[in-house]
Amino acid sequence: MHPENHVQAPSPEEALQTFREFARGTLLGRDAELDSGAEPPLDLYRPLHKSGLLNWWLPEEYGGAGLGLTDSVDIVSELAYADAGSAFTLLISVLSSSMVSLYGSPELKEEFLTAMTREGGYSAALGSEQEAGSELINLTTTLTRRGDQVVLNGEKMFSTNSGFADYLIVFAKSAAEKGKPAAYHAVLVPRGTPGARVVKRWDMIGLRSAGTYQVSFTDCAVPSGNVLDGPGLKIIEIGLNSSRILIGAIALGVARRIRDICLDYAITKPLAGHKLIENAVFASKIGQMEMQIEVMRSQCRTAAREYDEIMAMPDPPAEFLRRGALRSALTTKMFCGQTGWQIATVGSEMFGGLGYTTDLPISKYLRDIRAVTIVEAGDDVLRELVFRRFVLPPNRRI
Ligand SMILES: Cc1cc2nc3c(=O)[nH]c(=O)nc-3n(C[C@H](O)[C@H](O)[C@H](O)COP(=O)(O)OP(=O)(O)OC[C@H]3O[C@@H](n4cnc5c(N)ncnc54)[C@H](O)[C@@H]3O)c2cc1C
Repeated sequence: MHPENHVQAPSPEEALQTFREFARGTLLGRDAELDSGAEPPLDLYRPLHKSGLLNWWLPEEYGGAGLGLTDSVDIVSELAYADAGSAFTLLISVLSSSMVSLYGSPELKEEFLTAMTREGGYSAALGSEQEAGSELINLTTTLTRRGDQVVLNGEKMFSTNSGFADYLIVFAKSAAEKGKPAAYHAVLVPRGTPGARVVKRWDMIGLRSAGTYQVSFTDCAVPSGNVLDGPGLKIIEIGLNSSRILIGAIALGVARRIRDICLDYAITKPLAGHKLIENAVFASKIGQMEMQIEVMRSQCRTAAREYDEIMAMPDPPAEFLRRGALRSALTTKMFCGQTGWQIATVGSEMFGGLGYTTDLPISKYLRDIRAVTIVEAGDDVLRELVFRRFVLPPNRRI
């Protein structure tokens, strides 16, 4: 049951229809406003909470709609078709909330996941630091134990949603002590905890309706029970499975939009006594885009199905700890990011000189889609990870 209006959770088909109507009715046509860099337009998203669909993946036992990742691919694609920054804001809580869902204590889950569905809140993950973005093993934020509390100190470079999130999942390292080796931890920090401070919001070139922040922690103390149960670096690797797949779906949505604006343009663009849409070179470009879009969607759904299959197993937290980063999730983000960028390049050329101006929306889509191969580890790092984990013979794997 949904906590606010006490109606049955929507079916995946109903949910997709709601998101489609929301994307087309509320977001589409607001490019200039959503690209302005103004504060994230959270009020625009309130109707999704009223429909029980903000954070649509949260389990039903905590009041959520409990939709799977396979259903989420088309939802995110619909949102990103209208505005990639909104899609990013709305999906990125999956990273932190899935870590709580899998590795939080029953008390943490009850308190924070239920509040998220009841209030319609957001959450954020804070891994990246100045010297540790793709390679979190280099992180320097410290965790020290003080009685029944843990204390965080450090500076996190980029974190989406943390300026308004109800809780943060912060990654930190504890020093070796009493015979125990140094270790990485994932810690839940509730909004408003003393010592946690937003330093600034970054002025990003794309996804400008989203908010990505620099955050500092100075003697920030939370109860020891807020530390998630498991090795911190493995937990983030596992959390990234869901968000990497859905970030791939952002590229899918933006690519679909680019295809459609190219078609609209070609219908009216005169070319040698005809219209561009009658030209064979144009047809071949759009045919190529369609092939790429089809394979992007198929890859996102294949990876999401693998994720959902693990979630349906008797012990998903243990199974994820055994598997870590999924090959399908890594390759989905890489493939969709690279393919989406190819589509954006062809799309921007399509409009000639006007495609290089800010008068046309293609410049926004180009900047938006650029993020896909950068966030949650750049392609150089992911290529190496895929090689080390999945290509090297098992006895040489790291
Ligand atoms: C819009 C946006 C939102 C973000 N949101 C979040 C968030 O919510 N939470 C969060 O924790 N972080 C977030 N980030 C940070 C993001 O995850 C990192 O920026 C990303 O992982 C890249 O890391 P980096 O910035 O340290 O760059 P680096 O990985 O250091 O890359 C810099 C250069 O070094 C190269 N390089 C790095 N490692 C290797 C290697 N092993 N081999 C070869 N070359 C290499 C890269 O190819 C690149 O050329 C966000 C970033 C952006 C842009």
